[in-house]
Amino acid sequence: MTEKKRILTGIRPTGSLHLGHYAGALENWVRLQHDYNCYFLIADYQVSDYADDISLVRQAVWDVALDWLAVGLDPEHSSYVIESLVPEHAELTTLLGWFLPVSMLERNPTLKAEMEAMENPEDGSQERKSVPVAFYTYPVMQVANILMPRAHLVPVGEDQLPHIELTRETARRFNRRFKDVFPEPEGLVGRVPRLVGIDGQAKMSKSKNNAIYLKDDAETVSKKVMSMFTPRMKPTDPGDPEITPAFMYHDAFNPDKAEVADLKERYRNGAVGDAEVKRKLAVALNIFLEPIRDRRSKYEANMPLVREALEAGSKRGRAIAVETMEMVRDALDLNYLRKY
Ligand code: ATP
Ligand code: MG
Repeated sequence: MTEKKRILTGIRPTGSLHLGHYAGALENWVRLQHDYNCYFLIADYQVSDYADDISLVRQAVWDVALDWLAVGLDPEHSSYVIESLVPEHAELTTLLGWFLPVSMLERNPTLKAEMEAMENPEDGSQERKSVPVAFYTYPVMQVANILMPRAHLVPVGEDQLPHIELTRETARRFNRRFKDVFPEPEGLVGRVPRLVGIDGQAKMSKSKNNAIYLKDDAETVSKKVMSMFTPRMKPTDPGDPEITPAFMYHDAFNPDKAEVADLKERYRNGAVGDAEVKRKLAVALNIFLEPIRDRRSKYEANMPLVREALEAGSKRGRAIAVETMEMVRDALDLNYLRKY
């Protein structure tokens, strides 16, 4: 029997999961979970922007695990790993930092945008934050996360591709210079590479208050959909579905393609109101979310089982990390005590 290839991917524990996570990433995870040996990481070392609010992070660790269970990631076949329970991640980050030039990080467009947003928040109510040191090292840590289980595939949303490129480059450099330790991992972007938020402006994001969460109840979903950004002034104006968030969500989540085609046609001709488009979207989303919500509440009533998933998964994550670090120390010739 040949050993399965490995997946590493993850999410920061900064809130519950939303439709963007589902269409951009989770859907692929669910689809591939039996073909690969999967490590799903709760990246709690990477929450420097929430360092003042660790109670939020602590809650989010459980929320992320519940959402994973709710969408059907089987914790017996894959490993739910809490990053800080595998301190080897910090060790590998330090060692890789020896070899990665700062200029490689400065080229990363996702990092640039995030740093810019921190220093100049668009929303005037948010205070301007200084960029913490950990922010500079977090892309190196992401590289370390992916390399740790010597992953072959990394299913993520589009915003993560620059990080994967950096990982590939790092693996190549390391293997060439020292020993062949790391496979060069491939990125895999989901069906919807970057789902827009209900504000119609930015990517749907846990930290932007523009998300529909997998755990939102039916009424909340309907309210959020009805409040969704609309680029048109009047129902009789011809509209462009391509730039209308409600239609992007219809395309992503409404399986009734005939209904969507009809709505689009009428929208283009100014023959349908936004309220009808949104009402139908709310119905489709609630049908999609219902089984996810049901499974979530079942697990919520059995938290020891969730804990078990995190504990067992983190142990498996640690085991492969220890193995990798042996290989890394050997490649770098760091086993000093072996000399005598
Ligand atoms: P935060 O605002 O705290 O950064 P986030 O919502 O951006 O949270 P992450 O934990 O950064 O979530 O991302 C987890 C995974 O989900 C990544 O693979 C990311 O690319 C993907 N993802 C997040 N938001 C979206 C989105 N709107 N569309 C597609 N993929 C997404
Ligand atoms: Mg993010």
